[in-house]
Amino acid sequence: MNESQVRIFALLGTVFFGVTLSLRAQSAQGKKVYMVTDMEGVSGIFDTELQCIPYQSPRFEESRKLLTGEINAAVDGLLEGGATEVVIWDGHDSSRTLSALDIHPRARLLTGTPVSPKLELDSSYSALVFIGQHAMAGAEKGIVSHSYSSEGIQNICVNNMPTGEIGARVMLAGTFGIPAIMLSGDAAACREILDLVPQAECAEVKSGVSRTAGYMLPHPAACALIREKARRAIQRLPELKPYKIAGPVEVKVEFTTKGTHGLRQVEGVEQRGERTWVFRGKDIVDAWLKYSSF
Ligand SMILES: [Zn+2]
Repeated sequence: MNESQVRIFALLGTVFFGVTLSLRAQSAQGKKVYMVTDMEGVSGIFDTELQCIPYQSPRFEESRKLLTGEINAAVDGLLEGGATEVVIWDGHDSSRTLSALDIHPRARLLTGTPVSPKLELDSSYSALVFIGQHAMAGAEKGIVSHSYSSEGIQNICVNNMPTGEIGARVMLAGTFGIPAIMLSGDAAACREILDLVPQAECAEVKSGVSRTAGYMLPHPAACALIREKARRAIQRLPELKPYKIAGPVEVKVEFTTKGTHGLRQVEGVEQRGERTWVFRGKDIVDAWLKYSSF
């Protein structure tokens, strides 16, 4: 990925943070769900070049169909479990993947760039779910694991806790008072969300034997599992609490050698060693905004 893609990934993953803290104002009758989607955690996916680059990878169209099937299975489960509305964010590679042609007829698709700095997330949402999610960079046997950019970022820590895209979005949803309730992905991604939200429902659709190989559920089995877990998750919503992180917060980003290209020292940001920068804020939003505007 080039530097602009790195920036876009970082932005997409962090724009959630550009909002004022607000409490969830869930209406008594409505259960509106925000679905973060990605491709690397879909069953059948094991190779970025071969499968995941929009309209370049030889097997991209197959990947798009696999992802769409898993998304639609999750929507079915959420609706069966009592969700009243589902918004699907096209989160893989700058929102260039999903199509209104084959997305579940009762969901709404949020796609294209740019969108508002808060990704249109607001306090009307009751729950956050992840579909097709991969684990953080360096996760043991995490299939196609990375954090925002597979080439640009080595590690991210929030208050010294290793944090990837799952953690960042769980924390962000928490600032809105929204609980993360369910994830589908590989075994490493499931472990990652359970470390933060032990009560979350997980659809483990594959398990890695290395970063680029693993055991995959056939697509219909993956969809059946996702549907069941999504239904259970929304039914268990009252048990699931938002993840809160107390301030002050320090976000430490260790870039790869490639990832440091174009970075410069700015006020309020501490460079620690050749490839590591530290961003501090009074809370996660404040600290992450410094990083995302870096
Ligand atoms: Zn992706």
